[in-house]
Amino acid sequence: MAARKAVTKKPASRKPRPTKSIPKAALAAHSATLLARLLERYPDAHCALHFRNPFELLCATILSAQCTDKRVNMVTPVLFARYPDAAALADAQPEELEEIIRSTGFFRSKTKSLIGMAQALVERHGGQVPDDIEPLVVLPGVGRKTANVVLGDAFDRREGIVVDTHVARLSNRLGLTKLGDAVKIERALLPLFPREQWTKISHLLIEHGRQVCDARKPRCGDCILADLCPSSLV
Ligand code: SF4
Repeated sequence: MAARKAVTKKPASRKPRPTKSIPKAALAAHSATLLARLLERYPDAHCALHFRNPFELLCATILSAQCTDKRVNMVTPVLFARYPDAAALADAQPEELEEIIRSTGFFRSKTKSLIGMAQALVERHGGQVPDDIEPLVVLPGVGRKTANVVLGDAFDRREGIVVDTHVARLSNRLGLTKLGDAVKIERALLPLFPREQWTKISHLLIEHGRQVCDARKPRCGDCILADLCPSSLV
């Protein structure tokens, strides 16, 4: 008779479960308290990408897809020394640009996006980065997230909330929304935070995601939001 396979119990997951939502009526107070605590904990939260003007932030944000801000910041000084503006980048040789940005990953498609974006800036906007969402989101390689980063951090305009992987994860864990799609998450977040905090709330959630609410191992025991968080493990 064949020996029975031993049944091994899976260890209990230490990842927060998908959240229960906060009741609608309590959401405004919940998000206001989250914002206040995060502002107190991370008063200096800001964009981690290095840039000196909208063009540089646009390039850096395109490069930051699937890449750390730290790595992007290592590459951009060389990139901006070689291509200081849209006109220079529009004329770049793809092979040369690929070599400069190779370490950020997906370098072939990022090269296409950067050159296409720069050519569009030259052709449609006199080489300048537009400060409106509509012309930004139709630039090659630029989606709503990138447009929101540039508008908020380079132009100080609050047109939306940047939803990256940290913001999406924390919005779910903190019970702000159950939605998974970035555009839908943004739509759910907008009414929960005052417009003047739309840029800041992204930086705060990103900072908290990096420092405490890790994707795999959230440190709920050290979290200033644990008593409010429906996904808390403590
Ligand atoms: S308690 Fe804090 S660390 Fe834990 S899931 Fe909630 S926000 Fe993340």
